Amino acid sequence: MGGAIATALTVFLAGLAVPASASSGSSDAPTCTAGAHSLGTPGDRLYPDTGNGGYRSLHTEVDTVYDATTNLFLTGNMVQLTDQATQCLSSFSLDFERSSADAVAGPNMTVGSVTVDGVPATFTFVQPTYPGDPVGQDDADPRAHEISQNNPVGGPNQNPLPPACSPELPAPTSPPDVQDGQQCPANKLVITPASPIPDGSSFTVVVGYSGRPGVHADGDGSTEGWFRTADGGFVTTEPVGSEAWMPLNDFPTAKPTYDFYDTVAAGVTAIANGLLVSTSPHPANAQFPGGSVTWHWHSAAPVASYLVENTVGKYSLSQHVSHGITYYEAQDAALSAATQKANLVIMNQQKAITDFESHVSGPYPFSSAGIIVGSTNANFDEEMQTMISFGGGHVGTSLLYHENMHQWWGDNVTEASYNMTFYKEGLATLAQDLYTAHRAAVAAGGPGTAPGNAAFKASLVAQFDALYGNTGDFWDSAPSDPAPSALFSSAATYLRPVAAYLALFQILGSTDFDFALQGIQLTFGGGNIDESELETAFQQWMPNTSIACSQKLSAFFTQWFDTAYPPGGGANRPQITGPGLAGPGFYDQSGGCS
Ligand SMILES: [Zn+2]
Repeated sequence: MGGAIATALTVFLAGLAVPASASSGSSDAPTCTAGAHSLGTPGDRLYPDTGNGGYRSLHTEVDTVYDATTNLFLTGNMVQLTDQATQCLSSFSLDFERSSADAVAGPNMTVGSVTVDGVPATFTFVQPTYPGDPVGQDDADPRAHEISQNNPVGGPNQNPLPPACSPELPAPTSPPDVQDGQQCPANKLVITPASPIPDGSSFTVVVGYSGRPGVHADGDGSTEGWFRTADGGFVTTEPVGSEAWMPLNDFPTAKPTYDFYDTVAAGVTAIANGLLVSTSPHPANAQFPGGSVTWHWHSAAPVASYLVENTVGKYSLSQHVSHGITYYEAQDAALSAATQKANLVIMNQQKAITDFESHVSGPYPFSSAGIIVGSTNANFDEEMQTMISFGGGHVGTSLLYHENMHQWWGDNVTEASYNMTFYKEGLATLAQDLYTAHRAAVAAGGPGTAPGNAAFKASLVAQFDALYGNTGDFWDSAPSDPAPSALFSSAATYLRPVAAYLALFQILGSTDFDFALQGIQLTFGGGNIDESELETAFQQWMPNTSIACSQKLSAFFTQWFDTAYPPGGGANRPQITGPGLAGPGFYDQSGGCS
């Protein structure tokens, strides 16, 4: 990948040299160019169409005006995105999926107006281009704009180029390559301001839009975004579904802070990230004959693109404050009293779970926490920042440990790219394994007692050994290189990474393992982390700092995160484990790494 980046950059710079020297006569005129239509890197096959360059996302105000009965955004609905230019911009782009092949659950929205710093701007929708195209993002070759989960695209026309976007499949049964070679939809909203935006300046773009929000279809056949419910919409959006209900810079590393002003009919509840600041009632008008209310939520913490919550419907909503953190609990009013009561028993554990996970991950990173339980059958539960969303009407205790752990891993420290999804899913799954070990400790005599502590450690070893014993195709795809159809694969994205963390727990020892995690939170909190940064953080807390041990840990990461093995297990799996674990272990008899 590094070689591919260097090659593309060289071509890009070579292309730039011509206009730069040609315009040297007018030295005062800044060179203003279009912002990149993707934050992907050359060769990406995971959502290479998403994200936008040339600016940083600072703050987003979501002004929702929504009729929950008809599931429509009304006149006045808009987003206000405050960004900072990182180059002189002649134009820039956003991600917005106005329509989809799914005529029922997909979006159907229209952009009415766009302004930049209050001045009307022209806008158009274009297809994405594969990242690194040396011809430029307006490449006239249709092959530069094709769908695939493979690189190169392949398919009937044998396109030698990388994909420009990932497949959008209607059902999990579709072969993942069935759309190979088809044209990507035009979901890039390109905005040309009346005059160029100088490098370094902040600007606010306001996009007014209306119509029906919906869900995005993914390469694994699942959907995410704005799920229609009987009385509103339930929002759960990983990995890219936010663009099916709002225009945004749709990439995990784009993390603006947020304000939400959600105007809905009186009696309807709107739930978003951060803290509920106010609810303001309004008298009846043409849009809301029974009156309306504006719910203002504020997140001072930046929120990654796939963690933006904005659910609307008939919900109970309560809150209480403990040790400076506001805890919210929301449940769909359509759920039976018995179901809500059973859920509440688990939801009430969020503070205790947060305390438990703080011992491993460090102080809770946000000023609020919360859980929202919807009745809709969303495809998955998700770690929406400070407002964990459970679809299907039920909360599970182990899953709550998982989603709550994501508040540190994924939410506060976000993956630098989609292929780092394994990093945060492995750590969230580790919370479930720690919960299992905790229950073993309780059963053995209690945490802090000698038998309890022994049971805790034995449980973690047993959980590693069970995972390491997997055969078949468990080891056949590298966690850091998933196809879109396998991004949320149980083995590669959840179980193999958690086995690696369980091994690291043994290699570093529990204290240094916790220090490594807490150091990552301190260094990368509010931002993102890439794979080499993650691995360096663990290297820094190795008890044996010899070159041999450092090299062995590097090999460990290559085996566990980056290697696809032939099927079978046994010799076809990572051959470095940890002390006391199944497999060859890590240290030699003298504690070294010979
Ligand atoms: Zn997860």
